[in-house]
Amino acid sequence: MNKGTLYIFSGPSGVGKDTVLSLLLGRSDLTKSISATTRVPRDGETDGVDYYFVTKDAFESLIENDEMLEYTNYAGNYYGTPKAPVEKWLSEGKDVILKIEVDGCAQIKRKIPEAIGIFILPPSEEELERRLRSRATDTEEAVQKRLETALNELSCADSYDYRVVNDDLSKCVDDILEILKKNKKKSK
Ligand code: 5GP
Repeated sequence: MNKGTLYIFSGPSGVGKDTVLSLLLGRSDLTKSISATTRVPRDGETDGVDYYFVTKDAFESLIENDEMLEYTNYAGNYYGTPKAPVEKWLSEGKDVILKIEVDGCAQIKRKIPEAIGIFILPPSEEELERRLRSRATDTEEAVQKRLETALNELSCADSYDYRVVNDDLSKCVDDILEILKKNKKKSK
């Protein structure tokens, strides 16, 4: 059986990754990996669906037992990809997608060079700032911090295999579906 392809899906905060990914999952046979994190759940998030919400001790023992494919510290919390399910899906020939940040992508690329990185870009930096600001409740300081992080993330876009602009949502999803199709053909 063919081994599945591993896709890495990244983009700066505010670019609309979650919306793009949920539409993409509805229109493809990708399997989404569920990350573990030490951050607290947000309203509406469910353990085992959005993330595995774990304590810092639990996360550190996952690291020690070599159960993480990659992990990072982002905004003061651990985030990581549990290794066993991803390896199982790939060996079953399933295509798997990881929604992770840029440091995690670099780790995966070192371990699994054939993994394919897709980076979602905003139409412009100004538009990204507008979108970040429209998340109303933040203080100016918090907005500046998020903007700085987002600009840092944007500077890593060139290291990805594909860059897709999220200007028009359905076009963005179509463009990613094209990438998946192209890679399916190649791997056959
Ligand atoms: P949030 O707290 O907004 O859900 O996620 C913060 C950032 O962590 C996002 O960029 C998200 O893609 C990233 N992230 C989520 N899960 C993982 C993971 O397992 N590994 C890495 N490296 N980053 C992750």
